[in-house]
Amino acid sequence: MPAPQRVSVHGGHSGQFCHHAKDNLEAIVNAYIDAGFAWAGLTEHMPPMDDAWRYPDEAASGLSATTLQQRFAAYFDECRRLRDKYRDRIELFCAFETETYPGSTAVVRELLRATQPDYIVGSVHHVGGIGIDYDRELYAQARAQAGGLAQLYCAYFDAQYAMLLELEPAVVGHFDLIRIFDQDYHNTLRHPEVWARIERNLDCIAHHDLILDFNVRGFDKTAEQYPSRPVLEAALARQISIVPGDDSHGVASVARNYDKGVALLAELGHNRQWRRPRLYQW
Ligand SMILES: [Zn+2]
Ligand SMILES: [Zn+2]
Repeated sequence: MPAPQRVSVHGGHSGQFCHHAKDNLEAIVNAYIDAGFAWAGLTEHMPPMDDAWRYPDEAASGLSATTLQQRFAAYFDECRRLRDKYRDRIELFCAFETETYPGSTAVVRELLRATQPDYIVGSVHHVGGIGIDYDRELYAQARAQAGGLAQLYCAYFDAQYAMLLELEPAVVGHFDLIRIFDQDYHNTLRHPEVWARIERNLDCIAHHDLILDFNVRGFDKTAEQYPSRPVLEAALARQISIVPGDDSHGVASVARNYDKGVALLAELGHNRQWRRPRLYQW
């Protein structure tokens, strides 16, 4: 069996194209090359469909949805330029990460047509219209609106399930991001109604043969990667393809936590032969 390669299926958010990331995209690509990555998917966030769906930092900086949409188009131009420029040193994929909120599916379909990406990472960052990974305050609001923590998790996994059915993304981003600000997440994940939804969504991922993002950025904000170990074991039992994503948001987070995360996968018996995402044929 060949030696394991270093790869990332989700990352390359850059300060050039994302307001909450750092550094320009070319510096990040060079960091992947320096860190010895064989291939990396660049997966910038999709832009908001209108001003109401901007992240709070974008709104505070007066960036309009129109500006963010234009910047997203420029991202694809730069991504393809870099893919060609560094072709001999690293294989790059030009992709994007979705949002999931009411009305987002139509926007994703439009963006697919307009940008013709290699693939998409299907992610959920909102529940009931409220951002869940931005800060504790918004998380608490989303939880209050859902009627409790277990209900918040259930609504998150229901939104994810609908997204999986509608988009069949080649990669499913940070599967259990919803636990980000929950200290007691091990118990909440095991709540029967929550766990039933996790199993349903994993069955769907297995059925459609999608890749699960082994998201090592989780170590920065919680005790472990996304998905959490019990979820990971349930995914491995279903023989779901699991591939690392560093979810880098700047040069400093390229490959951060990578070896620690992959060591855990090896411990769980993963052969570390990483599958490439299924690419759209345009
Ligand atoms: Zn981001
Ligand atoms: Zn994300």
